[in-house]
Amino acid sequence: MNASQLRALFHRLLDAIYPPDVACALCGREAVLDADHLCAACRASLSPSPALICPPVLDGVFAAYRYHGSAREGIQSLKYKNQVRLAPFFASAITLPELWKIDRVVPVPLHPLKQWLRSYNQSDLIAQAFCARTGLVQQNDLLRRTRFTKSQTTLDEFERTVNVSRAFHASPASKGLSVLLIDDVTTTHSTLSACAVALKAAGAAHVYAACATAAVRGARQE
Ligand SMILES: [Zn+2]
Repeated sequence: MNASQLRALFHRLLDAIYPPDVACALCGREAVLDADHLCAACRASLSPSPALICPPVLDGVFAAYRYHGSAREGIQSLKYKNQVRLAPFFASAITLPELWKIDRVVPVPLHPLKQWLRSYNQSDLIAQAFCARTGLVQQNDLLRRTRFTKSQTTLDEFERTVNVSRAFHASPASKGLSVLLIDDVTTTHSTLSACAVALKAAGAAHVYAACATAAVRGARQE
């Protein structure tokens, strides 16, 4: 038996132990699933994001789910627990308004040191799954994170804006392009705005943003 036959056998064994059609797409627990492969508990705590107020520097902003309940747990598992299987789940919920004409898809970059520590960028994985589904072209090297910024989670809106301003540098290759930023979660849009400022300074024609989740102010954050 060669290596690829061995790998195929291993995957058949895994499918027999953990059949993909009985495990919830979000929490991974075995349960009765709906048409979207979600268990009843995940379905009940999953709610669509309301329409978001677009910051002036962006040409449009969209989020799929409200950042609470099972969506919040899913994003945290994707980010911190290596649950990379969740990237296609969140990517599948991103739908763009028809008016958005996109030339390039760019995930919000992590600082190289943070990416090295985490070994992957969750927004990059969501962008890859999104592009595989839509056929849009991803180009990560249009945007770099040049400053190591501290975590935004404990900062208020003003502090977040100061924290990430000038943290990004965009390539001159962005000139004239209509760019779609992809992020896992947005709260005050300060990171997305800082990315858009850098891209527009490099000549990008339009910058849109699509996020897997949005932490909407006033919403429950449990
Ligand atoms: Zn579930």
